[in-house]
Amino acid sequence: MQDYNAPIEDILFVINNLTSTSENKNEEYSDPELIKQIFEEAGKFASNVLAPLNRTGDKEGLSLANGLVRMPNGFVDAYDQYIKGGWASVAGSKEYGGQEMPWKIVGGLNEVWHAANMSFSLNMMLTQGAIEAIEAYGTDKQKAKYLPKMISGEWSGTMNLTESQAGSDLSLLKTKAIPQDELYKIYGNKIYITHGDQDMTENIIHLVLARLPDAPKGSKGISLFISPKNMISEDGSLLKRNDVKVVSIEHKLGTIASPTCVLAFGDIEGASAELLAQENGGLKAMFTMMNNARLNVGIQGVSIAERAYQQALNFSLIRMQGNSIDGATEGTVAIIDHPDVQRMLMDMKSRTEAMRALSLYTANELDLSKGALSEEEKNKAQENLDILTPIVKAWCTDQGVLIASTGVQVHGGMGFIEETGAAQHYRDARILPIYEGTNGIQALDLLRRKLTMDDGNIFRRFLNEMKKDAEDCILIEKGELSYIGKKVLKAINILEETADELLSMWKLNKRQAASGATPFIDMCGSIFGGWMMAKSALKASQLLKNDDKNKFLISKISTSSFYVDTVLESALSLKNVVTNAHKNVGAILYNIKN
Ligand SMILES: Cc1cc2nc3c(=O)[nH]c(=O)nc-3n(C[C@H](O)[C@H](O)[C@H](O)COP(=O)(O)OP(=O)(O)OC[C@H]3O[C@@H](n4cnc5c(N)ncnc54)[C@H](O)[C@@H]3O)c2cc1C
Repeated sequence: MQDYNAPIEDILFVINNLTSTSENKNEEYSDPELIKQIFEEAGKFASNVLAPLNRTGDKEGLSLANGLVRMPNGFVDAYDQYIKGGWASVAGSKEYGGQEMPWKIVGGLNEVWHAANMSFSLNMMLTQGAIEAIEAYGTDKQKAKYLPKMISGEWSGTMNLTESQAGSDLSLLKTKAIPQDELYKIYGNKIYITHGDQDMTENIIHLVLARLPDAPKGSKGISLFISPKNMISEDGSLLKRNDVKVVSIEHKLGTIASPTCVLAFGDIEGASAELLAQENGGLKAMFTMMNNARLNVGIQGVSIAERAYQQALNFSLIRMQGNSIDGATEGTVAIIDHPDVQRMLMDMKSRTEAMRALSLYTANELDLSKGALSEEEKNKAQENLDILTPIVKAWCTDQGVLIASTGVQVHGGMGFIEETGAAQHYRDARILPIYEGTNGIQALDLLRRKLTMDDGNIFRRFLNEMKKDAEDCILIEKGELSYIGKKVLKAINILEETADELLSMWKLNKRQAASGATPFIDMCGSIFGGWMMAKSALKASQLLKNDDKNKFLISKISTSSFYVDTVLESALSLKNVVTNAHKNVGAILYNIKN
């Protein structure tokens, strides 16, 4: 049972109702009918081509022969169709053949691709990031050389940051870049490189962090390079292999069909490379692009949650077990009849909808930060994006794991057995809180860099705007809306108190404040999710005035109600965890060690 149907109605609801259109470009993508057509086509490709390969890819795995990775059966053909459908180029700039769709649409599409087949779609995600880096930092010559083929999907991209001694702390990286003629030679080993090799594209453009001779120590001495798998001539044709070797493919818990490679650069003569961005400015350049990648990883959390939910729902309709608790139905019932199973499914659904709304709202802030009509709007959108990005990355990915786990639970024993696919979603989800900056690092980013912006005033401004939405709900006479609004308003007030306390603690005792960073980001995620559900319920109630039997809209309000009664309610108790649990920070290490 591996069916996947893209949740088009909910994605369109968010894009059309929860995001703003105050952009000075991409007007063609503000037509709801066009957006609908895009998602309908994407949904067909995802269901018919990508989703069926998810399970087969997981079972078959990858092979490495003569230094080349072979993808599982069907992946090369699916990739061909992906390019022919124009899906590779949705985000790239028009100047180089892209379609320049807004990120709120690209984000929605990415959700669909990752839900259908995460191992396949990781290639696209890394390529999107590499394209962005070259668009932002490349010279005109580099852009003309690399972007058209990368945007068309003929070439893919990778990110080469991690080394065995340098993971979260990239200042420790040792890979060297030695200037030679007008180019550079790279020497060093990178580990965990996603789609570091595959046989779907004719070339792979590796973006590599390395140190120049005499570079300053630490993070200030890191530069970014472009080093292709196959060398490229002036006319764009491919030449001999560059000195980049796949040493091995990692054996992993999940995303089995995504090649995670150990790459050796320069074992023989040095891997040829070009400098991208300023010398020693590599980390800054990489971070610009990593922010978008973090948003995309958050979206992967939404994807796996949706896939796990659909899987669990389908199973609950056919698994017959037990009797109806109140005798409403005679004889053995499908497990969906049991209140506890209903609770699990509703929990999965409501969290997933909150995550989707928050992640696409954030994608819209990304659009506005680049394309809003005024500088003031752009700056404000950038501030919002700064706050939202670590929250979306950490919260949505933690939720992805939790929801996939609930999906296993709905299946009972069959969830633990591989044949249903529920176990695969759980295994695939587990990497999400780890890569692209672990969730612990995201929590620290929120505390150290975001909460502290303008001494907490930017965070407070954001919360005040959230409060206005909750107040709008309260003003609606309809009981359920005002109930949701009151609950969300109360939660935002508690979050504000918690944030103020944490900020004060940060000034007094950094170690103690840092201990509360993860529960704080968790609390933010659940409450920001509640805010999104309140906004959704409000919009749904307005739309219901003209369409009072619309099941989707009716269900949106009750799902929001469920969310505020359960997820939001539990988040309130995190205040004490953030501020109290680590009061005695000095004793923690002693306790752990003894
Ligand atoms: C499947 C997979 C795919 C990947 N793809 C890529 C890729 O394409 N390109 C690439 O460059 N890398 C990639 N990575 C690497 C990934 O980004 C790193 O694994 C991740 O950043 C964590 O680094 P680490 O594994 O060295 O863990 P460590 O940094 O050793 O962290 C271990 C633990 O310590 C915590 N920790 C570390 N430092 C701090 C700190 N300062 N404060 C608080 N807590 C801290 C972490 O949160 C974590 O819990 C991939 C990894 C995997 C497993």
